[in-house]
Amino acid sequence: MTRRLECRSRSPEDTRAIAAAVAGVLAPGDVLALSGDLGAGKTCFVQGAARAMGVTEHVSSPSFVLVREYPSGRIPILHIDVYRLANLQELVDLGYEEFLDPKQIVMIEWGDAVGPLLPADYLQIEFHALGDDERMIELIANGPGWGARLDRLAPSLNGFVER
Ligand code: ADP
Ligand code: MG
Repeated sequence: MTRRLECRSRSPEDTRAIAAAVAGVLAPGDVLALSGDLGAGKTCFVQGAARAMGVTEHVSSPSFVLVREYPSGRIPILHIDVYRLANLQELVDLGYEEFLDPKQIVMIEWGDAVGPLLPADYLQIEFHALGDDERMIELIANGPGWGARLDRLAPSLNGFVER
């Protein structure tokens, strides 16, 4: 069972391609928690995943509006950025309970900041900037479901996964 996949990205296009591979195994109700410094590539990843899922709207950072909805793809996506929130209660007040709708996928930038509110099963994605264009993107299974899905995902990440 794969618990962790380390992917090497050398460009924003690579990051979007890695995200597109992940998008291939996503199902309604999934939660993705993205963490890493400003500019590490979290929004870039969401753009790649959304595009791969058929989202036609332009995907931009929700750091000022906090939440954006992309209903046009294979599965509706809710894109949240909690960077500006002062505490967990602010996310609850935004309607977080309703965000965890089993019919949609939730992608949360700075998701590590709201750990106590994450469900038992989620995919943690950590972004590490290694250089100007180089990023290490770690996919980490949390909960029982994601380990098996990382097994399924690994072959489509060939060329990006570090061994
Ligand atoms: P975050 O949402 O983590 O703050 P963004 O995705 O908004 O980050 O921005 C990432 C920035 O880094 C963009 O300007 C992008 O062009 C640049 N970049 C350079 N190399 C990469 C890479 N390998 N993956 C993702 N973004 C990269
Ligand atoms: Mg961002």
